[in-house]
Amino acid sequence: MNPFPVVLSAPSGGGKTTVTKLLMGRRAGLGYSVSCTTRMPRPGEVDGVDYHFLTDEEFLERHDKGEFAESALVHGKRYGTLKSSVQAVLDAGHHVMMDIDVQGAAQFAAAYPHAVLVFLLPPSVDVLVERLMARQTEDRQALLTRLKSAHMELHEVDRYHYVVVNDELEAAVERVGAIIDAEERKRERVRGLDAQLAGLIGRLEQEIQSFTKP
Ligand code: 5GP
Repeated sequence: MNPFPVVLSAPSGGGKTTVTKLLMGRRAGLGYSVSCTTRMPRPGEVDGVDYHFLTDEEFLERHDKGEFAESALVHGKRYGTLKSSVQAVLDAGHHVMMDIDVQGAAQFAAAYPHAVLVFLLPPSVDVLVERLMARQTEDRQALLTRLKSAHMELHEVDRYHYVVVNDELEAAVERVGAIIDAEERKRERVRGLDAQLAGLIGRLEQEIQSFTKP
């Protein structure tokens, strides 16, 4: 089976980081593409694990060198996926889990047409606001920015192949897992299918012949 990128987008507070982490803990064959950002680390975030935290200058230098598969300005900060991160995971034979915003997802899908795009929908605006408030890492202005972004992002859902409502965490993780299961079985992704089919057809023809012999 050929590994593929799985792009997970959701409004901030939509739970995509939690869903991604849980899924990766449970399922073999998944790798994570660590993004670059110019925002400050939140408490507990580790450089190189959660993000590569870069200065604006470092980010722009890497951008100009063509190192990003996609990049976007989100809530006034730069975010980007390194081509090398994606390739390293694919080369290891794993699907690449990516947590990126809607602008980045569109760019990425254009460059990697075999990517699977999944949008995680919050069950309600109340839940979304609750989740953002529970983080307690944002001031009021930052919260408002994230709500405005969520409003814009909901208009982009038709770019995605799948939609998963994150009403209950366990169920959402299972649904994303089921999408990966189904995608792995897409005919065009199955490695060696032509040879396998040719073998079956050839063998079947022999069998048919032996039956038609007197
Ligand atoms: P946060 O700062 O809360 O970790 O992420 C803010 C937003 O940036 C989220 O919507 C997240 O999906 C998005 N994001 C994270 N990494 C990337 C990336 O590499 N590229 C793009 N385009 N968006 C990203």
